[in-house]
Amino acid sequence: MEVRIALPLRDFYNGRKTDFSIEKQAICSACEGSGSEDGHVDTCGACGGRGIRIQRQQLAPGLFQQVQTHCDKCGGKGKTIKHPCPICSGSRVVRESETHTLEIEKGMPKGVRITYENEGDESPDWVAGDLIVHLVESDPALGSEDHERTDGTFFRRRGKDLFWREVLSLREAWMGDWTRNITHLDGHIVQLSRKRGDVVQPNTVEIVKEEGMPVWHQELENNEGFQFGDLHVEYVVVLPDLMGKSMEKDFWGVWEKYRKKSGVQLDGALGRPEGAIKMPSDEGHDEL
Ligand SMILES: [Zn+2]
Ligand SMILES: [Zn+2]
Repeated sequence: MEVRIALPLRDFYNGRKTDFSIEKQAICSACEGSGSEDGHVDTCGACGGRGIRIQRQQLAPGLFQQVQTHCDKCGGKGKTIKHPCPICSGSRVVRESETHTLEIEKGMPKGVRITYENEGDESPDWVAGDLIVHLVESDPALGSEDHERTDGTFFRRRGKDLFWREVLSLREAWMGDWTRNITHLDGHIVQLSRKRGDVVQPNTVEIVKEEGMPVWHQELENNEGFQFGDLHVEYVVVLPDLMGKSMEKDFWGVWEKYRKKSGVQLDGALGRPEGAIKMPSDEGHDEL
């Protein structure tokens, strides 16, 4: 018996203890699994408790065939009940809801399966199987409380590492002098910043050490203290698509000044021609 439980990334990061309920088949406690209101269970008179009946059929004089059939009086159970239990109507089992405690450990991998031994469906006829809880990661969504509204809600996880995309303006990427406070999954702040003059190229990935997922203790050697993976921050640079007229004029002026002074014609520097190149096939066919 397996159930899937979807949890947000923050629970895998912080760890959490919670309860969950599942409905399962349980042995009827009113009749203790006998199916009888008064506890009396009789052996079926028709089959002698074997649940099957053997009939001899004569096919021809002196030739017999034995036919084995299900006992229809007791339904093959071998037992009959005069007064069925009113709770389970004699079926010996009921559906009931059971609550279990679920402990999500810090850094548990998504997709992990937790086993609750003998907590599966019960029956008087077999030993209950295991209940398996399959933990998966739910889609990121902001909640209503502060701790459910961190930037970390939208981190993506791969193994022990986390991934985040940060947007910079052109000015920030190029000139530096900026600070970002990223709220992590437990609310602590990861500060990203550059001093004036520190350029960040678009799509640069900065690796912030030990701001990834905690490493699950089962995967730690010698059960050492908590270790963490890394946080990978990818910078996306957005150019302004709207500029005030005077701003545009100012920038244009600055560019013109430096273009004339030290500008390089990239095409020329890379050996590219100014016009189209004539292809050999334009002059008729080649002779081989
Ligand atoms: Zn019962
Ligand atoms: Zn019978």
